[in-house]
Amino acid sequence: QGKRGAADIVLYDRDQVAHPAHWLVVQAELRHALERDELVLHYQPKVRLADDEITGVEALVRWQHPVRGLLAPAEFLPAAEQSGLIEPLTAWVLRRALADQAGWAALGQRWPVAVNVSARNLEAAGFPQAVAGLLAEHGAAPGLLLLEITETALAGDAETAARAVLELTALGIGVAVDDFGIGYTSLSQLRTVPVAEIKIDRSFVTGLDGDPQNQAIVRSVIALAHGLGLRVTAEGVETPEVRAWLADAGCDDAQGYLFARPQAWPHLLDLVLHPRGS
Ligand code: C2E
Ligand code: CA
Ligand code: CA
Ligand code: CA
Repeated sequence: QGKRGAADIVLYDRDQVAHPAHWLVVQAELRHALERDELVLHYQPKVRLADDEITGVEALVRWQHPVRGLLAPAEFLPAAEQSGLIEPLTAWVLRRALADQAGWAALGQRWPVAVNVSARNLEAAGFPQAVAGLLAEHGAAPGLLLLEITETALAGDAETAARAVLELTALGIGVAVDDFGIGYTSLSQLRTVPVAEIKIDRSFVTGLDGDPQNQAIVRSVIALAHGLGLRVTAEGVETPEVRAWLADAGCDDAQGYLFARPQAWPHLLDLVLHPRGS
């Protein structure tokens, strides 16, 4: 915890007013949820456009709330980020994801797993070493772990974030820039931060066919990514038309409801056994 000056106290109070009292309840409950193992991970495949092969799966957290049912991340992640619970939450997600990865590896699928990390994780001292510790604990290969960092996280405390990314990649862990296009990543940052992949935000992708402006943006992001030697994934692909447009534009991978919704991992094996259209 940093020290708090008079000016910060005012901000802090204003924050409390701005956030519904509801968040405080969520925070208290989430603490118990972590202890009681009420969180679950759903996975969404990432598919290579050239041949429909699954090139990885992304872990997306949900909360199986005893009263409110299955909650989406938007309903509790803000409370976690605000309270510092995001650190144990990310550790839980990493543990669960690495354990699940061992499960599908045992069934013959060497899928890399992608985990979303927040700016706060990246800025925490010792985060890369903590991830390395979890990998060792699970006997997992660093090259089969991809951490997705939003553009906004890279734009925050750019120096701390860049250092963390350097340390992670030195450990052999992959890093992707998530939600690309809606934040403020400068091009020079992409040059200095050694990321492996760019994920184009779904807001540019979903209605892409018939939207010349988004087409222009997506084309230039693909060119930019390839110019820097990075892979590019389009999120939010929902229709065959968008899929075809992206394949034509040279996009590497795609994710979206067209291929599969996020789901418990054993269901993904059905996708492999019964590919779409067969
Ligand atoms: P994201 O990382 O951009 O994940 C993609 C989101 O888009 C997911 O929402 C996914 O269910 C949804 N999605 C995937 N394909 C489609 C599609 O074709 N159409 C539409 N309309 N939506 C699609 P979800 O699971 O609600 O997650 C929302 C966000 O919460 C994620 O956005 C990510 O930023 C965050 N998040 C999820 N899990 C974690 C986690 O374990 N840790 C952290 N720090 N953040 C997480
Ligand atoms: Ca993501
Ligand atoms: Ca995203
Ligand atoms: Ca997003």
